[in-house]
Amino acid sequence: MDKIKIKDLEVYCNHGVNKEENVLGQKFLVSAVLYTDTRLAGTRDDLTKSIDYGMICHKITQFLKEHTYQLIEAAAEQLAKFLLLEVKNLEKISIEIKKPWAPVGLPINTVSVEMERQWHTAFIALGSNMGDKEGYINQALESLEEQEECEIVKRSDLIVTAPYGMTEQEEFLNGALELRTLLYPLELLKLLNRIEKEAHRERIIHWGPRTLDLDIIFYDDMVLDSEKLTIPHADMKNRDFVLRPLAQIAGWKRHPVFGKTVAEMLRELEEK
Ligand code: ADP
Ligand code: MG
Repeated sequence: MDKIKIKDLEVYCNHGVNKEENVLGQKFLVSAVLYTDTRLAGTRDDLTKSIDYGMICHKITQFLKEHTYQLIEAAAEQLAKFLLLEVKNLEKISIEIKKPWAPVGLPINTVSVEMERQWHTAFIALGSNMGDKEGYINQALESLEEQEECEIVKRSDLIVTAPYGMTEQEEFLNGALELRTLLYPLELLKLLNRIEKEAHRERIIHWGPRTLDLDIIFYDDMVLDSEKLTIPHADMKNRDFVLRPLAQIAGWKRHPVFGKTVAEMLRELEEK
């Protein structure tokens, strides 16, 4: 991706662990790399197709003066989030905050933190087979929309499917959605678990009836195996109730390990 760079913007503000720092303030230097596609702005010579670095400098200054953090880690984290939420076409940002007057008591040039934050794309599978199924699913969509760090980009139709695993239970209603999110995978899982809980989901029987099931299918092209979370979802290629709705919105999406698209995985499952 293309980059727009800001180097060592000077802001006088009040971040620090020591009380005096919060009262007296000091100089901070902010550098930022803004990742965006500048092709249109470049070919058309049109600022409205790019990101105005002047506007960004003013936003950074205002944000850092209006808030007080103990840590430059927190200042950078919150500033990155603020800009990613606020600035159109900003996909990713790298921020460095330097503190040249850090009260270390030794002759240093600067101390600083630097971090990269960005929008991610996750695909989520939704399912319910108890009670007001459509109601639970719609409630989940609303809860996701309420999060400023999540934005629903696309959603599939809801389809009726036969139960999986334990087959002596009600039919399922299933769907899939594409989510644009600032949350990290475990943070996203935590949010999904909270939304499941709000739907009074009870985890009594594995694969048994549930009011709401929310699974992460893909997260960018990440491959992750951990105790709590496996990405891509471990059983997706065997679940037509995951692949069918997902194929509606992302048939082209290629599994980062199997090398097959969602449409191909669905076709293979149907041929079995
Ligand atoms: P399932 O979704 O397989 O029907 P559960 O919803 O009860 O079963 O999930 C059981 C556990 O699976 C969760 O507590 C969660 O930690 C773990 N898990 C592992 N990978 C994922 C994933 N990609 N999405 C959601 N949960 C996952
Ligand atoms: Mg689940």
